[in-house]
Amino acid sequence: MIEIRRLESDGGEAVFAAVDIRRGTRFAAELPLVMVPPVSDNDEIPEFYRAIDDLPQEKSAEMAQLLGHPVVTESIKKDPQVRHEAWSFYKAKKWKSKEGTHLQGKKLRRAVTRITNLCAVYLAHNVQLGPKGKYGSGVFSLYSRIGHSCVPNAYNSWNPTLERLTIHALHDLKAGDQIFVNYTGNVCRTRQQRAFSLAATWGIICSCPACTEPAIDQLRRRMLIMDQALAAYTCGASQEPNFSAIYGVPRIVTAKEALKTAEELSHLLKRQRLCGMELCKA
Ligand SMILES: [Zn+2]
Repeated sequence: MIEIRRLESDGGEAVFAAVDIRRGTRFAAELPLVMVPPVSDNDEIPEFYRAIDDLPQEKSAEMAQLLGHPVVTESIKKDPQVRHEAWSFYKAKKWKSKEGTHLQGKKLRRAVTRITNLCAVYLAHNVQLGPKGKYGSGVFSLYSRIGHSCVPNAYNSWNPTLERLTIHALHDLKAGDQIFVNYTGNVCRTRQQRAFSLAATWGIICSCPACTEPAIDQLRRRMLIMDQALAAYTCGASQEPNFSAIYGVPRIVTAKEALKTAEELSHLLKRQRLCGMELCKA
């Protein structure tokens, strides 16, 4: 149902619908190339090195082919922690390779470079599996080639039963349409908030309608406020009398007010064809 094509604009790869795809269709269910179990931030890189050491050669070769933004991946490769953890990994293994041969000199440096390069791919492409990474994180060959849009036409989620990342069409797609997901997690964010995380994490400058049309940014600003007000109502934070003065977000206290806000938020989401998790939550 889908195909990977090279983009003429920047030579990068992207995913397109190969046929017409109906809204709601699950067009991909992908196994991870590598998976890291749920661990604290400090343990993530050492866990990744352990996972990569167990990985069959063809999977690490496939992973090495995934491109990230050069500025982002180069800065990860030079990151002192990423390099330090790679040396520590081989030290803990008594300077031995996966096959058990002793590594030293050039061979050891090459092995360290190889795993730090793969770590850069992992950090640039990993997806949290389940809410807040409940099932860990993984890198996916197809998913990594799907572009970002703040007005996405597809939605991805980890299916713990299938143990695969599933990707569904949010709208009817025509053959030849490029497929986009939202990398930033929540669409109820302002252009400035999205621009910061997109540039820092993926080196992306987004030019979707929500990032270029001021009227849409106004809607997103309104959606952010409603999303935060509803979150505060749900967790009980809005019970605090000075809530609005402290957080600059309207105080929702009654169920009736919450319903009215959720209805308005749903309306704004549907108006922009944002039919993902935010609409479900609202
Ligand atoms: Zn955008």
